[in-house]
Amino acid sequence: LFNDIDLLPPDSLFNIKQRLSQDSRPVKVDLGIGAYRDDNGKPWVLPSVREAEKVIQKDPSYNHEYLGIGGLTSLTQGAAKVLLGDDNKALKEKRVVSVQSLSGTGALHMAARFFTKFCGDKLVYLSDPTWANHNAIFETMGLKTATYPYWDPATKSLNLKGYLSAIESAPKGSIFVLHACAHNPTGLDPNQEQWASILDAIIKKDHIVLFDSAYQGFASGDLDRDAFAVRLGLEKLAEVSPIFICQSFAKNVGMYGERAGCFHIVLPRQDQSVSIENVKDAINSQLAKITRSELSNPPAYGAKIVSTVLNDEQLTEQWHKDMVTMSSRIIKMRHQLRDNLVKLHTPGNWDHIVGQTGMFSYTGLSPEMVKRLEKEHAVYLVGSGRASIAGLNSGNVEYVAKAINEVVNH
Ligand code: PMP
Repeated sequence: LFNDIDLLPPDSLFNIKQRLSQDSRPVKVDLGIGAYRDDNGKPWVLPSVREAEKVIQKDPSYNHEYLGIGGLTSLTQGAAKVLLGDDNKALKEKRVVSVQSLSGTGALHMAARFFTKFCGDKLVYLSDPTWANHNAIFETMGLKTATYPYWDPATKSLNLKGYLSAIESAPKGSIFVLHACAHNPTGLDPNQEQWASILDAIIKKDHIVLFDSAYQGFASGDLDRDAFAVRLGLEKLAEVSPIFICQSFAKNVGMYGERAGCFHIVLPRQDQSVSIENVKDAINSQLAKITRSELSNPPAYGAKIVSTVLNDEQLTEQWHKDMVTMSSRIIKMRHQLRDNLVKLHTPGNWDHIVGQTGMFSYTGLSPEMVKRLEKEHAVYLVGSGRASIAGLNSGNVEYVAKAINEVVNH
């Protein structure tokens, strides 16, 4: 019965981890998977998370009961506030529907299922390049995807002209998936002015926006600064169309494996003839149907941790410090890598490494160079040349720079 099933290639990212674990060389460096590491190369449990775990376990009502289908309300409400802002008009005007999701991937999947049901004829536009799973998530649901230019390899900067003309020429009412901050894989974000022109162009063509927010606070260490694009989008689109937001706490709370995330739909202001409460109830019922048939109800433990961090003033303060710890270490590593390459007179300009933001750097190294880095130096990164800067530390950054220098020169 199953003899003719196609063997699919392994997932390129998770496969790096496997090759690395089988590599017996004494010095090896993992710049593949996007997970934060401390300066000893170890996973880091945030101090705010350690405290939150204590709080949860001390609670006399501590248990492992099911959550409701929509998830933990204290999480979804706290999460919406963190991303949209305390004084957000959409929140005040009660135009936001928020449910818990299986981290960011689950939120994207929920969006995809929602689109399939209510706007399945629309094209989904993804940045070129984008996080590889974006294609898989939307295409698996049968949606058609297209790309908009983003990275200009010649200048290692944003191809704004190409981006805007793709928005202009896309069929009216298409869906645009926008990385809220710390673009994966390039580490390159539009500046504030560029965001304004992107969003204005989107409005002109009645396109629909989906913000994928997987790195809030991780880019700059500042939650509000990293929410700039989302908040500008909410302001500009408030009278125009709904906005979809997929929010992950994998990176900024370090909840990778606990799968804590949220999916939000922000409705535009309605005219008097429509009851927004009725629209919200209908949307909630549809999202509940998706969750019930797929997970029954979302995972509780990570949700409780994130909710505790978001709703306790002292823990929130600690969390902000934790994000600064992570983002500033990554920025320091960007500088050390660039400086070492300059010191070695490695051909080319390496300033883009420090100009980029978030966890990743699109180094500009060719697939051939990436292969040699792995084979000859045990430095592992994705074939596209994307390096997870979080994998660098004061003990290996010089080694990595020397390895890059060697493959670029010979
Ligand atoms: N979107 C982007 C752009 C990402 O980089 C990631 C994490 N790699 C995600 C969403 C979702 O990740 P998770 O499902 O672990 O929250």
